[in-house]
Amino acid sequence: MAEKSVLFDTTKCIACRACQVACKQWWELPATLTANRGTYENPPDLSAETWNKIRFEETGGRDGTVRWLFTRQACMHCTEAPCVWVCPTYARTHHALGYVSTDQERCIGCGRCVEFCPFEVPRLDGDNISPRVTVKASIPRTVAYKCKFCEDRLAEGLSPSCVKTCPTGALQFGDRTMMVEQGRGRVAGLAATHPRAYLYGENELRGLHVMYVLTDDPHIYGLPDKPRLGVYPEFDENTFPDWYVKAVAGKSLPLFPPEARPDWYMQPKLAPTPGPPEPESPKRLAGRDMGWGGPALSGWLAIGVVGALSWVIRRKSQRGQE
Ligand code: SF4
Ligand code: SF4
Ligand code: SF4
Repeated sequence: MAEKSVLFDTTKCIACRACQVACKQWWELPATLTANRGTYENPPDLSAETWNKIRFEETGGRDGTVRWLFTRQACMHCTEAPCVWVCPTYARTHHALGYVSTDQERCIGCGRCVEFCPFEVPRLDGDNISPRVTVKASIPRTVAYKCKFCEDRLAEGLSPSCVKTCPTGALQFGDRTMMVEQGRGRVAGLAATHPRAYLYGENELRGLHVMYVLTDDPHIYGLPDKPRLGVYPEFDENTFPDWYVKAVAGKSLPLFPPEARPDWYMQPKLAPTPGPPEPESPKRLAGRDMGWGGPALSGWLAIGVVGALSWVIRRKSQRGQE
């Protein structure tokens, strides 16, 4: 299955924000109530109910002129995705098509993905954001939200709704290799007038699945020039909420998501296109010697589950620091 990517060409974006609206419509996300701030940029930031927005950057050009730059703000679907490594419950999943999705059912709202995303993308809010993004669990809670890459549309062979609606062709979608080729070609075409033109995301974090054609350095557009991986603290396993421990112990929630690819979780240094993994079943994972020494919970089953969670998190954290 070929990895997919979105290619955003900033030179073709007219900031119509049809992509913002299409995202809200597809996922039935509510509008955000805002006030006039003296700018066309609206809403002012991403939120649990706004997963994709156009940022307006007014900046002085190198030739002294003022430039108005439009940039897309949304999840980059990183290959080396800090949010995946730090998530203690495997709520974040690398899909074989390359994108990073969030399973709200597994999310405990710990906020680690919010803290460690280099692009400041995920946002926390309650569990009833939209009829299309529901949490079945009966205990109301906070969960993390971000762009889902229109995974249900991709499953039907369609492009993400933002791409589908873009009237200027600023957003393109296809196999990542094709998008890289297209982006490189566009950058080469811009070189004469924009010597600092750059294809952002081709190599950053081992390849983003949303790439940008920029006419200048990334920071001019409000993007980190060199998004880097951090040293991530271990998750305190004693803070797993009761509902999560019980759900895993009762097997209503598998410790390891069946659809997840273990190699993508356990190896921080990923090849852009990893080979077929040797899947490690949740049973094998939970059956290892976890070396857990935390306080006792009710019953050996709960101890085993928490121990397994602890080992997995420690291992993820250690790998993240390598
Ligand atoms: S942009 Fe942030 S939320 Fe999206 S995959 Fe990368 S680290 Fe995760
Ligand atoms: S807030 Fe949810 S998705 Fe984010 S790290 Fe915590 S459990 Fe994972
Ligand atoms: S729909 Fe296309 S042109 Fe309009 S704001 Fe979005 S990316 Fe830009």
